[in-house]
This record gives sequence, structure tokens and C-alpha cells, in this order.
Amino acid sequence: MPTVNAYAATSATGPLGPVTIERRDLGPHDVKIDIQFCGICHSDIHTVRGEWGDRPWPLAPGHEIAGVVSAVGAAVTKHAVGDRVGVGCLVDSCRECANCKAGLEQYCSRGIQTYGSVDRDGTITQGGYSTQVVVTEDFVLRIPDGISLDAAAPLLCAGITLYSPLRHWNAGPGRRVAIVGLGGLGHMGVKLAHALGAEVTVLSQSLKKESDGRRLGADHYYATGDPATFEQLAESFDLIINTVSASVDVNAYLGLLDVNGTLVNVGAPPQPLPVAAFSLIPRRRSFAGSMIGGIPETQEMLDFCAEHGIGADIEVIPAERINEAFERVLASDVRYRFVIDASTIG
Ligand SMILES: [Zn+2]
Ligand SMILES: [Zn+2]
Repeated sequence: MPTVNAYAATSATGPLGPVTIERRDLGPHDVKIDIQFCGICHSDIHTVRGEWGDRPWPLAPGHEIAGVVSAVGAAVTKHAVGDRVGVGCLVDSCRECANCKAGLEQYCSRGIQTYGSVDRDGTITQGGYSTQVVVTEDFVLRIPDGISLDAAAPLLCAGITLYSPLRHWNAGPGRRVAIVGLGGLGHMGVKLAHALGAEVTVLSQSLKKESDGRRLGADHYYATGDPATFEQLAESFDLIINTVSASVDVNAYLGLLDVNGTLVNVGAPPQPLPVAAFSLIPRRRSFAGSMIGGIPETQEMLDFCAEHGIGADIEVIPAERINEAFERVLASDVRYRFVIDASTIG
């Protein structure tokens, strides 16, 4: 098996460093991608630090991959050498269950994640903090010419994580949408909800990033640190997407929903969130969750972003600054996504 350079964790406590990892030989349906950029997602940090369970080491994270096809297997029809492509959080699924057949591969109970997951051949998948990856053609996305590859990389996780619930709950003209938290996920939510035609409000702890929020497309911006906000905005949204992974007062946010409104969690706080039944009952409100998106919807999102000139706001870094970037992500000190320049790996 060919080896490639990567940046990986070798334990749950140590820093990431340069290693070599194996990539499988190109099968008939496989696409080999020369990775150019890979975004840094909060999940990468949780995973390599063992916070979401033990993983085999070394582990190269990264599921916001953008690059160019450098080889294709004999039976590949969807991609060709030279194509600009991306890979997100999934590299395969069972392809037989109802969810897979409906293009909802993210809800397949046998989905194979881009890193730290057991692949079909029994090996452990390795992510995009590396120079090349081999992925079956059906899980490789086209990146349209309208988006640069560095700004496209974070769309593969952060972008689709917001696009899918916005579409599912009909964000669009005449709909009042609030995005809670203006970080890597939230800034994509503002851009996408605005491009979909919704009236967009940012609910952020303070007004520190208000000018950013408005530049990204927010019509309104409120500080959740100010208790008056919750009185002023009572029953004024159709959809609220919470991107914050710390615990929040769910009942306070539910109170901001109008009749039939939905609060969707895409941030994943470690503690259970208490919900009062009477936050839901009198206004027929829903409290929901959503996880990334399926392959067809991810392609739709990339095409939509190209059409509307949307990419992530990024800070490109060399591989040697990955550990420092992790600390800055944890301190919310990034506007709004770190992207690794893969040419600096190894
Ligand atoms: Zn992610
Ligand atoms: Zn399935």
C-alpha cells in the first residue's frame, strides 16, 4: 500500500506531529485526491483528545477536504483526473438501508466516517490532515469553479451542517431565522440563511462581532448576555439553529419561537439539556437535532454556494501551526475557520 505524509495524533494527550500513513491501492471505483486544503473542525479536536471515545493511534483527523483528482480507478465515471473535488465527514455507508436509498447517508447506522472509523477492508480511516486520500467515487463531491478550494474546504462539514437544517425547516423568504453563536458553524449559517432569502438574526453572547455578523448577511444582531433580549424577541422566530456546544438555557431559546417554530441543535454540549414540556406545548414548538447532510444535499449545497459566491471566511495556516490552531479554536479565537495548506505537510 502506498504511504503518504500526514499530521496525526499518536496519543490522546500529545500534540499532533508529522507521520506517514497508508492509503489503500486504487480500487476500480476509487478516486485518488491530491489534497490541497483541509479545514479544522471542532470535532477533530474532540476526537484526537479521546473525548468521544478511544481511537487507534496514530490518527490523522480532518473531514473538510478539498483537492484535485490525481488518479481514478478503471470503473470510475463520476470524476476525472484534474477535477476539483471535496470529501466531507463520510467516506462510505451501507448503501442498502432506507436512509442510504433516500440520500440520507449521514443517518445510515453503518456509515463510515472519514477518520477513526473501521473501513470496509478492516483498516482504520485516516482524515484530511494529509497529502493524499483515496475515496470511493460516490462519496466524492464536485467543487464548482466559482469557489476557491481553500474557502470551499469548510463547506464540507460546517457548511452542510447548517445548510441541511435550513433547507429541511424551509428557511427562505418570509421566514424569520435566528442563528445562535457566531463561530465556524454560525458564520456559515448566517451566510446561507441570508442567501436563501430568510430574515436573519444573530444571537451572540455579546455585540463584539456585530459588524462581522452584518457583513456576513445578518439583518439583526442581539446579545444573549442581555436578559432584555429574551423579552424583546419573545415569539419572534420560525426557526432557531443553535451552534453552541456549551450548555445553554434551552427553555429561554424556545420562548423566542413563534407558533410551530423549531429550535434545532447542531452544537453538541456534553451535558443533557433540560426541556420544560410547557416550553413546547402552548405554541406547538419543536426541539430538534440535525447532523451534517447526505451526499446529494452536500452537492446541492456546494452548487448553491458557487451560485451565490459563498465560501467560508478562513485563516490558512501551515501544518506546523495545527496545535496552536487547536488552542485558538478552543478559545474561539478564529474568524471563522482554520484551513491547513496541505502543501506544508511532511
Ligand atoms: Zn466537522
Ligand atoms: Zn445505509
